[in-house]
Order: sequence, then structure tokens, then C-alpha cells
Amino acid sequence: MPEGIVTVAYIAATILFILALGGLSHPETARRGNLYGIIGMSIAMLATIFGVVTANYVMLIVGLIAGGIIGLILARRVQMTQMPELVAILHSLVGLAAVLVGFVNFLDPEVHYTGVELTIHDVETYLGILIGAVTFSGSVIAFGKLSGKIGGAPLTLPARHWLNLALLLIAIWYGYQFVVQSAGGGNPVAGLPPGLVPLLVMTAVALLFGIHMVMAIGGADMPVVVSMLNSYSGWAAAATGFMLSNDLLIVTGALVGSSGAILSYIMCRAMNRRFLAVIAGGFGTAGSAAVGTAGDQGEVVPVNAMEAANLLVGSKEIMIVPGYGMAVAQAQHIVCEITKILRDKGINVRFGIHPVAGRMPGHMNVLLAEARVPYDIVFEMDEINEEFPDIDVSIVIGANDIVNPSAQEEPESPIAGMPVLEVWKGRTTIVLKRSMATGYAGVQNPLFFKENTRMLFGDARESLDEVLKEI
Ligand code: NDP
Repeated sequence: MPEGIVTVAYIAATILFILALGGLSHPETARRGNLYGIIGMSIAMLATIFGVVTANYVMLIVGLIAGGIIGLILARRVQMTQMPELVAILHSLVGLAAVLVGFVNFLDPEVHYTGVELTIHDVETYLGILIGAVTFSGSVIAFGKLSGKIGGAPLTLPARHWLNLALLLIAIWYGYQFVVQSAGGGNPVAGLPPGLVPLLVMTAVALLFGIHMVMAIGGADMPVVVSMLNSYSGWAAAATGFMLSNDLLIVTGALVGSSGAILSYIMCRAMNRRFLAVIAGGFGTAGSAAVGTAGDQGEVVPVNAMEAANLLVGSKEIMIVPGYGMAVAQAQHIVCEITKILRDKGINVRFGIHPVAGRMPGHMNVLLAEARVPYDIVFEMDEINEEFPDIDVSIVIGANDIVNPSAQEEPESPIAGMPVLEVWKGRTTIVLKRSMATGYAGVQNPLFFKENTRMLFGDARESLDEVLKEI
């Protein structure tokens, strides 16, 4: 394929990726955004396979088929609730790819640079491997934490900030060594390509840094980590693009990197955290600092499905607040059905969505869109939080941390300062959950013990099934 066509194809793919990002910013246009992304990626792959790759076709096709089949099986098997883990592990693959490309590029005898070009290429390689290794190990730990294979409590090593600083200084020092040795100076280890040892040491340091960084972040701050690793995976891809002199990879990586950074900022704002404080770690203690226990907060008032249905039918203003439990119970369809019936009765039913509800950014919006809940009754927390005093019944479906008043009332709480949906300000709140267990942040929730709260215990879908019958 002539080079000109590849360039045109790459520009078309870039434009489609930008349109895809634009489309994904709103549920109504998200499908179209996805479609743009698919077309863009198909064009990019075809142009790369037929225009850029010149040899090793057998290896490429075997790799494509094997990777495609594994991806297909994983995507079909994965439950909606496992999506965040899948995203985390996919980020780790981008990081791993950047590390491998970096090493292959460095060791490739056909890649020749001299003088300033060599230094620039070496810096690209070094940074690519550094970002790739941090992304890889950090994402693997994030996968472990999100899937519950690793505990959510932050690992707060003594002098951890000094440890991070030491790792950073080691990485800078070995970067200098790498550039010097690769240019023919320094004292390379005999028998090994000059520069290989500093590169290997830095890779080990970067892997350790990635592990330490994510281990130090507590459960409640995980949303920021997920979006941050998303951003890192973009920068890792951009670095790979520099190493391979592939413009499309650079642009795409930069798009992912910067949109991930914007998402991290939005998540930080949603949780009222400073980005640097989250990265430095130690926040969001899961479990260990649980404030208040079930025993010292009084009694809860359980209700049955009929009482809940009566409360709903007797109200004029209803707010539905979904959380992670709605995803677990796969209750979105029945929620949509109940919404429709109540709206047909002339009741104003709206949804209040917390930015970190569920286990990934936009989790609830995706579920509600899947169930075809009309977009115009779904509101962000900021749009709706003032309205709770006028709400007759708030129905909290499998949410916990995002409706926890202790975020406002208890400065010692791990979620202190996080804005929450103020459901308790309404007339009555019905909470659907299976037990008195805590949510992701491991914090007890005083909402359950408030006078105007009613607990409807059980799996959210089963409970709502009964409520629907009663209605
Ligand atoms: P939480 O994890 O705080 O609470 C979910 C609640 O759902 C639990 O208390 C659980 O109680 C209940 N539940 C679970 N399964 C069911 C079921 N089948 N039926 C009924 N209830 C069920 O979720 P929230 O959405 O309120 O808050 C999200 C939390 O996740 C925040 O702490 C956030 O920081 C964190 N997080 C968010 C990410 C994101 O990007 N959005 C990423 C990573 C973490 P019980 O067991 O008693 O049923």
C-alpha cells in the first residue's frame, strides 16, 4: 500500500477516534461514538497491516487470530459486574506491550541512530519502558483489588514517601547511565549490550513503584486509580508510538492519556480529593477504620415489599439512587419497569447518579441505558442534590458509600469530604440491600439507622419483583 494512502487512512482513523470520544461523552450518542471507534480502529489496523508491516505476516496473522479469539471469549464471558476488572487487566496489557516494544526496539540491530537522534531515541525508549512498567504492575494490582483477590486496605509502609522519592531518584540516575552507556561511554557490563543493565534495573524499579503506588491507595479512592491507569496506558501507547515512529499510535495514545487525565480530575473533584494526595496514597482505609458499628447506632426499621409499594404509590416525587448492588443483582430492567408504571400513575420519578457509583466511571449510566430508562429523567448528583428536601420517597438500590452521611458528619471517616447524595433530607428513604454489610470503603452507614429510613432486605431484583407485583 503506498505511503500516501496509509497517511490518509491514519488521518481518517484519528478523526474517527476524536468523534468517538465526543460521542461517548453522552449516553444518547454513546452508541454512535462506539461505532466511530470501531470503524476507526478497523481502518487503523488495515492500514498498519497492509501499509506499514512489510514482513513476518505469518506471525502477525497467527497473533491476530489468537489474540482475537482470547478477546472474544473473555468479552463474552465477563459479567457486567466484572467489567472494571477487565478494564484494569486490559490496561496492564498496554503497559506490557510498551515494555516489550521498548526492549525489542533497543536490542534490534537494525535500528541505528547516532548523535542527538540517538539520545532522543534512547530517552523515548527509557520513558516508554518506565511508563509501561508502572502501568503494567499498577494495573495488575488494581485488577487484584477490584476483583477482591487483594484486600482493599491501603498498604502504608513507614516512610513510604521517602521510598517513592528514592525510587524516582534511582530511575533518573539509571536513565542518565543508560543514555551515556548507549552512546558509547560509562562502564557497561562486559558481554552485554551497553545500556542494557540500567534499562533492566529501571524496569524492576518501575514495576516496584507501580505495585507500591496502587497498594498504597485505599478502597474508597480506587475510582481515581482506575481512571489514572487509563491515562497512563494512553501515555504508554504514545511512548510506543514514538519508539516505532508511528504517528497514529502517538495521537491515539495522547487522546487516551489526556482524556484519562481529565477523567481522573473529574473523579477527584467528585470525591473531593486532591490528585496528588490520592497518588501519594494512604487514603480510603477499607475496613480498618470503619467508624461506628451497627450496635451503637440504634435500631433499623425493616419493611416488606407491600409496605414499600404503598410508600411508592402514595408519593408524588420519587428519587431512585442506584449503586453497585443494582449491578450485582442485575436489577436495572425491573427498575425501569417500575419507573414506567409509577410515571404512568402521574408520579414524578427521577434518578440521581453519583459520579463514583458502582465500580467504574459511568457504570450506572451504562446499566440504565441498557434497560432503556429515558435519559431525560437521569440526573447527575450536582444537578439534583438540592432537591432532596422536596422528595417524598428516595429508593436506594444497592448503594451504600454514595449515600453515607458520615462523609459530611465524621471528619475521621475514610470517606470524609466526599460529596454524597443527601437522601436523608427527603421525607422517607427506602434502602434495598441484603444485609447490614458495609460498601466498598468498609464504612458503616448511619443512614440505615435514621428515623425516616426503611430497610427492604434481600437481593435487589427479588425485592423489586415483589414490589412490582404489589404495585
Ligand atoms: P457500595 O460498594 O458502597 O455499596 C454497594 C451495596 O450494595 C453494598 O452495601 C451491598 O450490601 C449492596 N448489594 C450488593 N449486592 C446486592 C444485591 N444483589 N442486592 C441488593 N444489594 C446488594 O456501592 P456504591 O455504588 O454506593 O459506591 C461505590 C463505591 O465503590 C465507592 O466507595 C467508590 O469509591 C468505589 N469504587 C468506585 C469505582 C468507580 O469508578 N465508580 C471504582 C472502584 C471503587 P449487602 O452486601 O448488604 O447487600
